[in-house]
Amino acid sequence: MINLHPLYSSSSGNLFHIQSQKGNILIDAGVSYKAINEGLKSIDKDITDINAVLITHEHIDHIRGLPLLCRKNDIPIYACGKTAEYLENELNERNIKNNIFKLEYGQAYKVKDIEFTPFQTSHDALMPCGYRIKSGDKTLSFATDLGYVSDEVYENLKYSDFVVLESNYDRTMLDFGRYPYPVKMRIKGNLGHLSNDDTSDTISKLAKDGQTDFLLAHLSPNNNTNDLVYSTLEDVLLKNDIDNSKLNINLASKELSNEEYFIC
Ligand SMILES: [Zn+2]
Ligand SMILES: [Zn+2]
Repeated sequence: MINLHPLYSSSSGNLFHIQSQKGNILIDAGVSYKAINEGLKSIDKDITDINAVLITHEHIDHIRGLPLLCRKNDIPIYACGKTAEYLENELNERNIKNNIFKLEYGQAYKVKDIEFTPFQTSHDALMPCGYRIKSGDKTLSFATDLGYVSDEVYENLKYSDFVVLESNYDRTMLDFGRYPYPVKMRIKGNLGHLSNDDTSDTISKLAKDGQTDFLLAHLSPNNNTNDLVYSTLEDVLLKNDIDNSKLNINLASKELSNEEYFIC
């Protein structure tokens, strides 16, 4: 059994909570420590319930609350090698040095009854990753912040019971928006983010491979809307002859949300 709470998810801040039969973990800590506590309270949890924090990469929308979380608690923090070194050196928190675990791509690790395997994503960070998470006989795949879906990422998303995938921006909104040209290029590039079109193409492929349950996450507050995510997806699914009614596709909220997804 896996129970997922996408507490916060956008380019402004990311915090996901995962509960299994025996454990509680967070993926990322990208909102203030106060907001982390508010998020956990909204689902009747406390920071002391958390057995581990898994970090995807060192961008501020994924680690904003980490220094204070580490100063005030004794919770193991897991991040891929270079990301872990960065956190140790830059955050300057004694508790990070004591509590950090360095991960390698493709290796499986375990906290309580939750097994997790980081996989490489393509993003302009030191050692960015997604996670494939398993508890009991259920698997959840998690990938936000990636410029494109590589074969490796796709293999990690495939055959999961639930997929969390970013749908970051609408191409037209980004093109005509107020971001400076280099920032637009960064977002669109192979080390940036997935557009609604990219994500819709991947969902179509996964749906053809038999996958049905998706949560779209990490929407840009400036270059995307929920309606645009859904309309792009509908167009692409229709074009690929996929029956939308057989799929469960939800959007993670940019604001604090106590929505809950049971994977059982
Ligand atoms: Zn991000
Ligand atoms: Zn990022």
